[in-house]
Amino acid sequence: MVLENLSSSLKDVFKKISGSSYIDKETIKEVSKDIQRALLKADVNVKLVISLTNRLQERAATEKPPAGMSEQDFILKIIYEELLSILGEESRIELKPQTIMLVGLYGNGKTTTAGKLARFFIKKGLSVGLIAADVHRPGAYEQLEQISKQVNSLFYGEKNEKDPVKIIKNGLDRLGDAKVKIIDTSGRDSLDDELIDEIKRIKNEIKPDEVLYVVDATLGQQVGPQAKVLNDAVSISGVIITKMDGTGKGGGALSAVAEIKSPVYFIGTGEHMEDFEVFNPRKFLSRLLG
Ligand code: GDP
Repeated sequence: MVLENLSSSLKDVFKKISGSSYIDKETIKEVSKDIQRALLKADVNVKLVISLTNRLQERAATEKPPAGMSEQDFILKIIYEELLSILGEESRIELKPQTIMLVGLYGNGKTTTAGKLARFFIKKGLSVGLIAADVHRPGAYEQLEQISKQVNSLFYGEKNEKDPVKIIKNGLDRLGDAKVKIIDTSGRDSLDDELIDEIKRIKNEIKPDEVLYVVDATLGQQVGPQAKVLNDAVSISGVIITKMDGTGKGGGALSAVAEIKSPVYFIGTGEHMEDFEVFNPRKFLSRLLG
């Protein structure tokens, strides 16, 4: 998987720097090439990779290490900081009563993630109500109902109602006791106007506190345009990247969503409800660097 590939090549880069007796322009150039290779192999967006190594070269040429820090450690620090800037700032979802709307395309793991998110809040002591507002996919209602039993959350859905806004309004009303309400909305095979209109209408009428975009890591960089369209439509406030367990392309999805500048809150690491982690860029990076 991506982390291991990236990790071993980046480890070599770090060894190269710590092992060199002096750092000159040539060393920085060589190291930049190694970093580019490692990141591109992990499917990180080429523009991001180039701007990262440009910044590294510029900073190495103009900044001086603070007193007491070796040139080698200083370069390592710059690389670390610049890598972190790709991963994004750490940002955690607030542990407070709120309404959360999930958006994303079919098969990306939206319904599963609704359950994982419910379990997360319940473990933190906040009761949860799941609302089934995917009115298009057959079986979505039953799937979410089943999941709600698994994670011990409340559940609301209306099997024959086709208007998601009506369902959600009734759901918010009926699940009034639940501290956190999580709305599973419809997806599609690809983005179309009907889906965009539907989620826009939900967003405008319901005014959720968070709009979380659920996206499959295995899709790699191609999620970039999709993330942008959804962000333009409903202002994504956070991202959950699923299927980080089964991919060589985690870097792709990660760098593609980096462009919409919404924080990654969680990653999904398997099919089970407990396969879910708070995304912590520093931890991710130290895992990357071993
Ligand atoms: P939806 O159409 O977006 O609601 O997608 P589902 O929640 O039904 O998930 C589609 C498939 O992806 C199911 O087989 C899930 O078990 C699987 N899935 C969801 N999240 C993950 C994950 O983090 N890792 C893996 N390996 N599979 C996942």
